[in-house]
Amino acid sequence: MRTLQDRVKEDGVVIDEKILKVDSFLNHQIDAKLMYEVGQVIIDHFSDKKITKILTIEASGIAPAIMASLHLDVPCLFAKKAKPSTMTSEYYHTDIHSFTKNTTSTVVIAKQFLNEDDHVLIIDDFLANGEASLGLHRLVQAANATTSGIGIVIEKSFQPGREKLESEGLEVLSLCQVSSLLGNKVKLVGE
Ligand code: 5GP
Repeated sequence: MRTLQDRVKEDGVVIDEKILKVDSFLNHQIDAKLMYEVGQVIIDHFSDKKITKILTIEASGIAPAIMASLHLDVPCLFAKKAKPSTMTSEYYHTDIHSFTKNTTSTVVIAKQFLNEDDHVLIIDDFLANGEASLGLHRLVQAANATTSGIGIVIEKSFQPGREKLESEGLEVLSLCQVSSLLGNKVKLVGE
């Protein structure tokens, strides 16, 4: 997706050789128009798949996920990073290791929002080692639902996330693929 790739090149801040910050349009301030376009491109790609629900993880996945759900007119569900005291119903849970924070947290989804009839498109802001997407896929499996595919805004292709997801038989779409962050420079696949 050209507009997104240009934006990543222009606004992306390289934190170190493995972490990219895109606070100006995705991780802090959100460019709603760009995310609206991101949502459209993701659902167009998976138009041949049955999708009854969009699933993401709080917090930065919510913007692209909600835009995809708006285009498709299906609910957007996000896994919570801690079981809130207001969540009294039964819930599915799994542990996810955070690449950026280097911590492991239990993420939860109330059982009432995911069931065996659901076909779920997982969306996230970044793909690094694949832990977040794989964790969301485990929650889908726990509900006996089906994962229809994975839509990613920015993939760091020098990390093994895509390989891990594809080896689980999951189709992955990434709208911007970063091949390297070396030398404080964002290099995209194909450049
Ligand atoms: P993974 O689970 O694939 O290892 O990492 C993806 C998750 O970690 C995403 O949900 C994202 O929030 C975060 N993440 C991984 N790498 C980066 C990065 O370079 N920049 C930002 N902003 N978040 C990242």
